[in-house]
Amino acid sequence: MTTYLCKACGTQYPPAGEPPGACPICEDPRQYVPHDEGQVWVSWDEFVDDHEAEVRDDHGILGIGCTPSFAIGQRALLVRSAAGNVLWDCIPYLDDELAGRIAAEGGLGAIAVSHPHYYSSMVEWARAFACPIYIHEAERKWVMRADPAVRFWSGERQALGGGLTLIRCGGHFEGGQVLHWAEPGALLAGDIVQVIPDRRYVSFMYSYPNLIPLPASKIEALAAALEPFPFEAIYGAWWDRVIERDGSGVVRRSADRYLRAIAEPGLSS
Ligand SMILES: [Zn+2]
Ligand SMILES: [Zn+2]
Repeated sequence: MTTYLCKACGTQYPPAGEPPGACPICEDPRQYVPHDEGQVWVSWDEFVDDHEAEVRDDHGILGIGCTPSFAIGQRALLVRSAAGNVLWDCIPYLDDELAGRIAAEGGLGAIAVSHPHYYSSMVEWARAFACPIYIHEAERKWVMRADPAVRFWSGERQALGGGLTLIRCGGHFEGGQVLHWAEPGALLAGDIVQVIPDRRYVSFMYSYPNLIPLPASKIEALAAALEPFPFEAIYGAWWDRVIERDGSGVVRRSADRYLRAIAEPGLSS
């Protein structure tokens, strides 16, 4: 028995004698089954043998990824709060050396993952550090490897201590969540709030790969959910996708721009 990972999205499935029949996360319109190679599975051992951890500072927070890049290619962030360490978002990769490195940083008190595209190997991580995983209950059906470590929360906000608050933003996923860190004033956003290449704006989509936008009501709700929480920096899902200043203003201006674009095409700048 081994576990298998979906090569396109990086989701780890429960231990089994053979790969799952399909990956529901990739069959959902917010992801995709690759046109050329179809659904491909990679066994855990094969994946770990072919990759290694990449751990380095990313604009003041310790980033954790793997190389070569695998699946969606996001990096996680190790948030060192006064109440303990929280792993924000997750990656498919984990090995003993990486677990030892994280243990040397104080281990993990909790894991929180923005949305199903980054659930990846979160159960593997939670077992290594005997910690809970905070997921919004609206995403229950997307947890492909069930485990007692998964703690479904309900409502609009969940405090984690140490000035950390999970905020349900919805949008890309109904239970899409971001992590607000009061001091130093940062929003860890995954791709619920997407940092775009110019670092002057963010954007929001129902499906990024399939270019399906969100309706005005969802954009307004997302902006309203973030309004009470001031922040300067916005940390996106990938290495160096970071906006360093005026994050609250960036989100407000970006939501306004988006609403103009879907109401009056051509008048979006
Ligand atoms: Zn998949
Ligand atoms: Zn996503």
